[in-house]
Amino acid sequence: MSSRISLQETGNLLLQAQKIVLCCHVSPDGDTLGSALGLMHILSRLGKDVTVFVDDEIGRGFGFLPGIEHCRRPEADSKVQADVLAVIDASSFDRVGIVGEVVQAPFVLNIDHHISNTEFADYLYLDTAAAATGEIICDLFEEMQWQHDEATALCLYTAISTDCGSFRYSNTTRKTMQRAALLLDYGVQPSIISDNLDMRTRETVELLSKVLPTLTFAFENKVAYISIAHELYNKDIQTDSFVSYPRYIEGVDIAIMFKAVEEKVTRVSMRSSHTDVAQIALSFGGGGHLRAAGCTIYAPLEEAQKQLLEAIRKVL
Ligand code: AMP
Ligand code: MN
Ligand code: MN
Repeated sequence: MSSRISLQETGNLLLQAQKIVLCCHVSPDGDTLGSALGLMHILSRLGKDVTVFVDDEIGRGFGFLPGIEHCRRPEADSKVQADVLAVIDASSFDRVGIVGEVVQAPFVLNIDHHISNTEFADYLYLDTAAAATGEIICDLFEEMQWQHDEATALCLYTAISTDCGSFRYSNTTRKTMQRAALLLDYGVQPSIISDNLDMRTRETVELLSKVLPTLTFAFENKVAYISIAHELYNKDIQTDSFVSYPRYIEGVDIAIMFKAVEEKVTRVSMRSSHTDVAQIALSFGGGGHLRAAGCTIYAPLEEAQKQLLEAIRKVL
């Protein structure tokens, strides 16, 4: 169990530290990267020695984020001493990769918004009503009276905008928009960020053309899924947007993308209109939100499909 702390206490824990390691989750998205980088900018400005670790490849598309060049991948068998390890936008410790072994800190702080948070950290600031961890970081700026600049604003706008689907998803609230609106005062141009986030490589679109024919329906068309067979899988090709194709089909409640990242390891992304998919993901050791969740099933593609559909049968 974590000790649940207030925003003020969260800010103070960071202020009391000198050497701070910020950690993003694996398969890094705009929320974990933007939130960590926004924090990195302000904490560096406050004179802290800040390292940002991501134990994964970072999509080329995030190259526009100010400070992204400071994100480092931890080296196995290395040791890094810090006063605090702050895990950003991750709901369980396995999502930090090897950072947990590399970083030696007296305590772990977790700032997160996932309903599936496992309370792995010593200290936790969790706000499941926040559309993005970026929204929480904006709250933290306000609470601590930290001033934004163009870099923090750009990073935090990207974080918020990523997780609420550019203010379209059901997690978008008045506060989500207010936070984002405030960031516009520091020079953020929404169209430039959305152009960056929506930009795809030719390889992504070519892969999409091979993945769409796998579209399959189940449970009276309430479930639709697409699959990336291991032969087609390429870690360098972004596929995050693919799940929106089964997601936006009339009558579909649960959309799934299966990705055979290894012969016997299948990554699952789920989106839903009604059903709590975080619960389903949790039953496979994953997690997420009510309407967007994911997990990894340690089985070949077809076996993983069978297992997940069986779990869905039970909740539908
Ligand atoms: P994705 O389908 O990868 O975009 O993930 C959707 C949501 O589920 C995000 O909020 C992720 O943080 C969360 N999620 C995805 N995979 C996992 C996992 N293996 N464990 C915990 N949370 C996950
Ligand atoms: Mn995330
Ligand atoms: Mn998030």
